[in-house]
Amino acid sequence: MSNGDCIFCQIAAGDAPANKIYEDDQVVAVLDINPVNPGHTLIIPKEHSVNILDAKDSTLMAMIAATKTVAKAVLTAFDEYDAFNLESNNGRIAGQIIPHTHWHIVPRKADDGFKHWPGKPYEEGQAEEIADKIKSQI
Ligand code: AMP
Ligand code: ZN
Repeated sequence: MSNGDCIFCQIAAGDAPANKIYEDDQVVAVLDINPVNPGHTLIIPKEHSVNILDAKDSTLMAMIAATKTVAKAVLTAFDEYDAFNLESNNGRIAGQIIPHTHWHIVPRKADDGFKHWPGKPYEEGQAEEIADKIKSQI
């Protein structure tokens, strides 16, 4: 089902402008309008869902299959890229701006300024506690 107010539903339906580089029956891929590097691409399912947690498994499988095809094309189209990040922001606090499931293929070159998240090690014994807490919910 599509949501008329949703910009990614509109793009997927061809009702809003986008630089589309791939389409199949379930997925479109378009250039991000504000790229980290040229060729930064969004993988967008045609069916509306808000984020990965409420998307159908079959939708996510179609997205990952499309991701392989598109990421290979992005990397081979430009000599300067031989790596990419696959990034998905799920929820507002995680930086999700558009509430329609999608993820980013960010092609990478050396010294492009892209920063990974900062990590901080666990305290003694804390990792086991955290792992148990999460496992109890699976
Ligand atoms: P996020 O929800 O955090 O993954 O961010 C949404 C991404 O979509 C941002 O990188 C925007 O630059 C991009 N974006 C927003 N509107 C459009 C649009 N109409 N066409 C292409 N990319 C878009
Ligand atoms: Zn939508």
